[in-house]
This record gives sequence, structure tokens and C-alpha cells, in this order.
Amino acid sequence: MPQAVVIATGNAGKLSEFCAIIKDGAFSFFMSKDIGFAEEVEESAQTFKRNAEIKAKAVFEYTASKYKDYWVVADDSGLEVEALDGRPGIFSARYAGENASGKDRYMKLLNEMEGKTNRNARFVCCLCLIRPGHAPEFFEGVCRGSILPEPRGSGGFGYDPVFLPEGCTQGFGEMSEEEKNTLSHRGRAVKKMLERLNAEQA
Ligand code: IMP
Repeated sequence: MPQAVVIATGNAGKLSEFCAIIKDGAFSFFMSKDIGFAEEVEESAQTFKRNAEIKAKAVFEYTASKYKDYWVVADDSGLEVEALDGRPGIFSARYAGENASGKDRYMKLLNEMEGKTNRNARFVCCLCLIRPGHAPEFFEGVCRGSILPEPRGSGGFGYDPVFLPEGCTQGFGEMSEEEKNTLSHRGRAVKKMLERLNAEQA
């Protein structure tokens, strides 16, 4: 039986990437809403790590009351831009207001970046895994790159159309999901988590 894992997110882009990165059949993934968790968890902390922990704990508390052996993974991620002192960072999802679209957010970012010569940026992803009987475990992945002068491609989600990973000629928005996952912050964090889990079984 595959291990059931609840991804503590309402973001379909994140779920799709998780399923594509981990496709060995050992896990079956659900979104929090699939198991009836409809609450909007307030991300009140100041770091990706603590916000991931808040989300994972909230969903785990609910999940454990119904499904004793399910695992929960929360992903808190965002884009840190050097010329903007690390913004939007932990506020990436809320950067252009609560109901803004992904396009609203990256267009706001491009406007703020107008005239800036330093376009260095990095995506950060922090995962918090909670398994019954274990303390929360954390895995971080980073992908360095730069902010493109204008959007390119229509793949991915969020800020992908304006992010060019270091050493690449194609932006995240122009890559297939598979290509993005090999070098993305999320791909790297998930790989670390799998290495830990595999090491336990060795
Ligand atoms: P949160 O982790 O739910 O707080 O939201 C993270 C936000 O960061 C997303 O809504 C996106 O705007 C952005 N983000 C995180 N990961 C990615 C990615 O892989 N591509 C593009 N944008 C991302």
C-alpha cells in the first residue's frame, strides 16, 4: 500500500510538482481539501521554516483525528529579490493583495524592478514533514537566478514567467514541469526529503 501523504496546500501548482517529482508509486498524495480540511491557516511567522511548520501542524492535527497513519507535508516557498532587500520573500503569495492573480504579482514585481541593474534573485522552498510519532522534520531547497526584463513562456505557476535560473537560457515559464523540477527549489527540497526517507530504509 502506498503511504498516504497530505500536502498542506491549496495550490494546485505545488501539488502537481510534488506528484511529478515523486513518481515511484510509494506515496499517494492528497491536497488538504481532499480530506476535508478547508481552513485558511494564517502564516503568521517571519521565516519560511516556521510558516511551513505552522501549516503542517494545523493540517496534521486535523488529519490525525481521522486518518491515524497519514503523513503531512507543508511547503512554504517564495521568491527573494536582492535589489528589493529580499522581498517579496515570505509574502510572495500576498505581494499584490489577497485576490490578485499570479500575473498581477509578477507584473508588480517587474514594475518595482524597473531601472534596477542588480536582478539577482532566488527561490526558496522549506518543507515540513510530520509523521505520526516523529518530531517535525525540515528540508530546504534553493534555486538561484535572476528576474527577466519581461515575462517569458506560460508554463509553471506564480512567478515562473519572470525567473531565469542560473546557467540556463530558458526561464521557468518556458520549461516543461520535468525540466523545472530537476533544478527548482522545490525539486531540491523534495530530493533531500526522499534521501532522508530512503536512508532510513537502508
Ligand atoms: P505559500 O508558500 O503558499 O505562502 O506561497 C508561495 C508563493 O510563492 C506562491 O503563491 C507563488 O507566488 C510563489 N512561488 C513559490 N514557489 C514557486 C514556484 O515554483 N514558481 C513560481 N512561484 C512560486
